[in-house]
Amino acid sequence: MNLTWLGTAGFIVKSPEGEIAFDPFLSRGRGAQSPFTPQSFQNTRALFVGHGHFDHTFDVPDIVKASELTVFAPGLTGQVLKLRGVPGSRLLRASNDEILFRPYKLRAFHSSHSRFDIPLVLSTMKRCGIKGCLEACHLGLAYPKGLVQTYFFELKGKKVLFISSAGCTDQELETYRKLEVDYLLAPLQGHTSIQQIAARMTAIINPKVVIPHHHDDFFPPLSQSISVEGYKEQLSIRGFQGKVVEIPLFKDAQI
Ligand SMILES: [Zn+2]
Repeated sequence: MNLTWLGTAGFIVKSPEGEIAFDPFLSRGRGAQSPFTPQSFQNTRALFVGHGHFDHTFDVPDIVKASELTVFAPGLTGQVLKLRGVPGSRLLRASNDEILFRPYKLRAFHSSHSRFDIPLVLSTMKRCGIKGCLEACHLGLAYPKGLVQTYFFELKGKKVLFISSAGCTDQELETYRKLEVDYLLAPLQGHTSIQQIAARMTAIINPKVVIPHHHDDFFPPLSQSISVEGYKEQLSIRGFQGKVVEIPLFKDAQI
């Protein structure tokens, strides 16, 4: 299968069994301009939303208009997407009780969002200034987090776990470990100590390969780049034996 990193937590997965996508965020404000547009999803059959924050859902209504895909979103996020113009006929609830996309045996698991810590909030406020803080508040209110979902799929004997935010509880991590994941798509954003948090999360899930995401400066000054090298150091401290595969921004990899 082929995996394209769209930046932020966004991915497109292509295989002969169909094309799917996760959390595409294309607008990126003052961040590096995306080569992807809503038209880039014309072959995509299903789009899975991890949670409702703007950097996971902002572009979904435009993508729906430009394609024929079905959106799977957790409860409140689905309602917000409807208010933002996604027709009910194109929207399904990302339930935890059933296979959501049969060709990929794709399932959802309840997950937790990272808690923004005070030093992170203060350093973000400093970067953003008053105007930027007001904009961030507006984005927070207009795009509530809602339920957070992690998605798991199996394709050609490979098991892939997509996590949209690095706040998983120990119980959630144990559930993911039991899935015997081959490829973990691990988010690096949302906390001052994110490299340590993500490395702990990765070591417990224990995948064969980890592919970091969300570490790009996707919406400056609200966002900032996170060093993957720092994450790798933390992984080696924890004795992680798997491989780290970095997909360059907007590029793809065969997995
Ligand atoms: Zn979020």
